[in-house]
Amino acid sequence: MTGHPVADAIVVGAGHNGLVAAAYLARAGRSVSVVERDTIPGGAVSTVERFPGYRVDRGSSAHLMIRHSPVLDELALADAGLTYLDCDPWAFCPATDTAGPIVFRTDLDATCASIEGACGRADADAYRAFVATWAPRARALMRSFYEPATPGRFTRAFGGLGPTATTARTGLFGARSGRMMSVTQDLMSSGDALLDRWFGSEHLKAALAWFGAQSGPPMSAPATAPMIGFAALMHQIPPGRAVGGSGALTDALVRRLTGDGGEVITGAAATSISRCGDHWRVDTADGAPRCADTVISACHILATLDLLAAGGFDPEALARWRRQIIVGSGIGMAVRLATRKLPEYRDLPADLPAHGVHSALGLLVTDRDHLRRAQTAAAVGELPDRPACVAMGFSGIDPTLSPPGHHLVNLWAQWHPRHLANGTGWDEVSATAADAMVAEVERHAPGFADAIELRHVQNPQALESELALIGGNIMHVEMTIDQMFMLRPHPDLSGHEVPGADGILLAGASTHPGGGVTGASGRIAGKAAIARSSGRHNGDRRGRRLWRLSPRHLAR
Ligand SMILES: Cc1cc2nc3c(=O)[nH]c(=O)nc-3n(C[C@H](O)[C@H](O)[C@H](O)COP(=O)(O)OP(=O)(O)OC[C@H]3O[C@@H](n4cnc5c(N)ncnc54)[C@H](O)[C@@H]3O)c2cc1C
Repeated sequence: MTGHPVADAIVVGAGHNGLVAAAYLARAGRSVSVVERDTIPGGAVSTVERFPGYRVDRGSSAHLMIRHSPVLDELALADAGLTYLDCDPWAFCPATDTAGPIVFRTDLDATCASIEGACGRADADAYRAFVATWAPRARALMRSFYEPATPGRFTRAFGGLGPTATTARTGLFGARSGRMMSVTQDLMSSGDALLDRWFGSEHLKAALAWFGAQSGPPMSAPATAPMIGFAALMHQIPPGRAVGGSGALTDALVRRLTGDGGEVITGAAATSISRCGDHWRVDTADGAPRCADTVISACHILATLDLLAAGGFDPEALARWRRQIIVGSGIGMAVRLATRKLPEYRDLPADLPAHGVHSALGLLVTDRDHLRRAQTAAAVGELPDRPACVAMGFSGIDPTLSPPGHHLVNLWAQWHPRHLANGTGWDEVSATAADAMVAEVERHAPGFADAIELRHVQNPQALESELALIGGNIMHVEMTIDQMFMLRPHPDLSGHEVPGADGILLAGASTHPGGGVTGASGRIAGKAAIARSSGRHNGDRRGRRLWRLSPRHLAR
């Protein structure tokens, strides 16, 4: 192609990270197009009318992290129509045969009172101390999520956490290093070890373990403690529920992007990324090749490697990266229910707000063995006898989600393997697996199953085919410590760059800081692309090819 237009950037994939990247570019006055394979933008942050009159999420439902980020303000998404409702209570663990439920409110005192009622005074006091210890650690973690992962930044983010730990070592240097070693041990601990260190009640440990396990790894895995410690931040800003459904975030991003001159082209799967002179060319299934100085690939990393392969990139490097990136075998599945009523959980306290616990993640696990059994079954390709479920009845706080007199209940459950043992196909067992999830709600809220009117099941195979989530992994690639920070998705590919392909940047859940609704990798890649194109915008087209990313530019 000669004499053709060359945009500043093309983004592959209109998941929320791709849209965030594009929105930053458009805000900075850069020309940017987003190409998306699906006919609906947003990827796992999208909401559709799955049943007439219901606004049903296709992926995520609760936004826990993005509200702790600069993204919403920097992109002025409230002005673009995004409204969050506070999820308060933000989590709920049902009653056991011997104890009442635990209700986690934004208010720490109210939460401790609930823990005291269910688990005793000692655990209530321990939880208060836990929140005080882990809040600064979780804040450091969040800060590190919104910056490129480099050893220097990592050290700066976590190096100041010494005062959150105690040590018996003495002397200025001894005490300092003792405290740092203690913090490091905490951060590297398994979630289970952390919980056993802090609490006595299995009920409370199960609730927090299930909260922490939402990223996928079991709480027996190393360095899963921070996934539980993140709960401390929920007492500052609770999870948010976007009015109108999770996809309202995507709608606002698209509005912001197009309002600033960018475009989103749906139904246009990228088929290759190749060199075109001194810039890059993206071919798409709609037959219209597009060229840009920078390409931000914000789809699954394995899809990006396919696009590079189709564009003639070094096959040996691609094969090596492919071999080493661990996608895993699915995390879980979702069931969307149109109902006549919300679950009526047993023994709820009287002092709840009018919406009860329906703003909360209903953590329907009261014993960690329940989690361990489900995880072990999945590891050998089997369905859990009793899936670990989260129930969310957000129509209890947002009436726009369902017709009057009706409700929408989202169920998420782990762990469910993408590939079942003995060649069993998902079509054969999908209904059974969904029944087992409903049974978990029924166990804690008798009479719920009879109120179900319509049901939509998204097993791991369906998540893969509908949302392009390879291996059914909603976090793209495993969120284990060997694939986080400077190691995500692979040491060569961290830094949101592809060695040997200057001008290809990476974003999306496959990259640092991983999955979940964060917008973080989109922000990092978008800012890097803006910095990269600054030479061109200063009229220095040749200079930009020699220019290299530096942390100083990325910090802007
Ligand atoms: C059922 C479910 C429930 C979840 N619940 C929560 C939750 O409550 N809270 C939370 O924080 N997180 C949750 N998550 C996880 C979270 O939604 C995802 O990790 C996150 O949205 C990933 O965003 P992303 O933009 O990085 O990638 P994606 O959303 O995966 O977007 C990638 C995009 O790239 C597109 N694409 C792929 N290949 C191509 C191609 N060749 N050309 C063009 N486009 C392409 C895809 O179609 C997709 O739109 C959930 C996910 C699922 C599926």
